[in-house]
Order: sequence, then structure tokens, then C-alpha cells
Amino acid sequence: MADPIIEVNQLRVIYNKGKSNEVRSLDGVDVKIYPEEYIIIFGPSGCGKSTLLYGISGLQAPTYGEVFVQGKNLRMMTKKESVEFHQLSIGMVFQAFYLIPTLTVLDNVCLPKVFRGEDIKSRREKGMELLRRFGIAEQAHRFPSQLSGGQKQRVSIARALINDPDIILADEPVGNLDSESAENVLEIFKEINGVDKKTLIMVTHNPEHLRFADRIIHMKDGKKESEEINRDKRPKEALKEEMEIKPEDMTSELKLLMRTFKNLSLQQVGVLLIPFKAKQLLNHVLSELTEEQVSAAENILKEFLFKNIDEKSLEEKLDLDMSEGGAGWNKKRVQHFSGRVKEILSQVESVMNDSDSSTISISEYIVKSFNIHLDPESLIRFRSFIKLRMENKIDRFGLLQRCYLNTPHEIYRSVQIVH
Ligand code: ADP
Ligand code: MG
Repeated sequence: MADPIIEVNQLRVIYNKGKSNEVRSLDGVDVKIYPEEYIIIFGPSGCGKSTLLYGISGLQAPTYGEVFVQGKNLRMMTKKESVEFHQLSIGMVFQAFYLIPTLTVLDNVCLPKVFRGEDIKSRREKGMELLRRFGIAEQAHRFPSQLSGGQKQRVSIARALINDPDIILADEPVGNLDSESAENVLEIFKEINGVDKKTLIMVTHNPEHLRFADRIIHMKDGKKESEEINRDKRPKEALKEEMEIKPEDMTSELKLLMRTFKNLSLQQVGVLLIPFKAKQLLNHVLSELTEEQVSAAENILKEFLFKNIDEKSLEEKLDLDMSEGGAGWNKKRVQHFSGRVKEILSQVESVMNDSDSSTISISEYIVKSFNIHLDPESLIRFRSFIKLRMENKIDRFGLLQRCYLNTPHEIYRSVQIVH
């Protein structure tokens, strides 16, 4: 058997140690994970799943115990090794996506490469390749707010893969998605593990997901309760079977799907569909909007952003039939969408009107005292994260995650130190 790619020895994470509110988030966990395994960390809310995942990622330092990844003790890594580890060895996917609203889909995906100093042409080529693979190439120049939840998660998966890491870590990646989009994202993970041979560790509390894993780590009260090998999982070879799709075999559903992803060739759609079963395909088609519906909505949204129409008519127009100048959406989708739009607009506003001098001085303090050279965009982003933290809208992890994903690595390191 191969050596473990990840080894966790007696990992303990204790918050507020020695105080009355001490929490033993992880209480002596041992885990070995082997290359190309699909592992699910499973258990009820609060049992320590995320803490274990962050321990493996190096986002959370152990109170006691050790974590080895690819033979390296995370604690003993030099600063340079740690930066390279986060850039090249692991990719992370979160429940809340953590996309940057002011960057296009393509720029979000390529961001990890920007921090590696790769030239714009080659990083964009790689980014587009991943967007095509996940059926979101048409969205490349749109902004995250214009995407469905499932599309956003596909963007964040593309971002996690852009530097081609061996290990993908995902914390409740479908927790925010409707069931069809969730199934689609789970199929992508299956492919990343089965075809791309990435070691995959996914946290979930949903027992329906367990069928995907090679091995399940059951957690309870900060401890590993048991491990379970999934004997029912299909052999990995089965995933490699190529599926040829000829035009005459195309079902009407497939035609619909082609219309949704009209920039894809038949062959590419075929690749995209390898893991789909008929039911999932149908669900997928039903859950995705057509291009026409999306672009009609885009125009309506622009009217709203230019303040030509108010929120009520935004909702009415999205709901109206396309033949009557609407976007032909259903009520539920409209309500969800307009809620998200409002949320995003208020976030943008709070960042734009950032007159909070303490936010500025704290972020400036960190940048100066660690002697970090930041481009203006990263600085604005960093300030907005500090602001959220100061307003207690995010916790320490929220801040670390955002910095980790969206700012140069020096910022993440320094926040880790000062927080
Ligand atoms: P899960 O992901 O399984 O829901 P977590 O790993 O997030 O659980 O949390 C495990 C326990 O640690 C919970 O009781 C949680 O409240 C606690 N915890 C997590 N983060 C912190 C923190 N920053 N400060 C204090 N307690 C925390
Ligand atoms: Mg969690």
C-alpha cells in the first residue's frame, strides 16, 4: 500500500484554553488518508468536522498533535514552504463559495495564479479550459451575482483546481444548493476523484452523500467515532468508460442541455455528461435556465441597477413570460435571486462608503507592520474583510478563509499571527 498522503496524529484543537468557555473542538483525532482516496468526514453539526478539515489544510494550527501532508509536518514548514503548500498542494471549496463579487468569473478562477505571478495569457487559457469543462464558459465574463448557486460552486471548484493541486478539501460544498445543483456538484467531485485522481476530502452532515466516498470518517463530540469502508462504491475503472454520443441518439433533454451550454461541442458535452445518469440529466436540464432566460434577466437587472425600475418591477419582470418581455423565471427563483441581489448591493455599498476609520487603520497597521506591498484592489478587499470582522459579521475563520482565498498569502499569514 502507498504511503499516506495525509497523516493526522492525536490532533487536538482547543478554543479558549483554560477559560470557563473552553471548547475541545477536536479531542485527539488520528486519521490516515491515502493518495486518490475519496474521504467523507461525517457527523452532526458541531462535532468538529470543519475543524478537522481546517487542521489538514493548515488554516487551523493544532493546540496539540501533528499534521503531515505529503510527508511534511505542517508545523515545521518554512514560510516559503507553507505558501507553496497552500498555492500548489491543496485546493479548497467552501459552502459559501467566497467568490469576489467585483471580479468576473474568469478572474475569480485565475486569482490563485495571479499570486503565483503567472502571465495573463497562460492563466486565462487554463481558466477557460476549466470553465468549459464545467459548462460555465459562457459565464466567463459575467459577475458572480449573475450566476445560480450551482454555477457559483462550479466556479469555485474551477478556482480550486487551477494550480492542479493533488488534494481537494471541501467543507459542506453543497450545503447551500438546491438538490439538482447539489447532485451536479457531487458528480463533478466524483469525476475529480475518479478521473483526475485527486485525493478528495469532503465534509458533510448529509447521509445521502456517503455513497460517493471510498471511506467515511464518522465524527462525534470532537472525536473520531469510527471509520467505514464503502464496499458498494463502483470500481474506479468504471468511471473511465468513454461514452460516445451521436446526434441521432440525442434525447430532447440533451438538446435542451446543448442549448443551455451552446458554446460546447457535442464531444465536450459528452465529456461533461459521462457521470450523468438519465434522471440526473433531466433534473439538471430542468434546474438550469436557458441562455435566453439568463440574458433577458441580465437586461432587466441592468435596468434595476441603473435605477430605471424598482425592486418590485424587477421581480415582476423576471417572472413575466419571455413573449411579454420578461425573463420567464418562476416565482421561487425570482425571490431567491432578488434577495441575493439586495444582499450583494448592500455589501458593495458598505465597502464603497467605507468611512470607518478604525477599519482602515487596522488594515493599514497590518500591512505596514508586516511590510506587505499590496495592490490597491487587494487592499480594498482586505479592508472589507476587516470591516466584516469588526462588525462581527464573520468569525475568525470567516476572516481567515476570505484572506486565504482573496488576498496575497502574506496577508493571510499576518492575520493568522495577529488575530
Ligand atoms: P462542525 O463543522 O462539525 O459543525 P466545527 O468544527 O465547526 O463543527 O466546530 C466544533 C466545535 O468547536 C463546535 O462546538 C463549535 O462551536 C466550536 N468552535 C468552532 N470554532 C470555534 C471558535 N473559533 N471559537 C470557539 N469555539 C469554536
Ligand atoms: Mg462545519
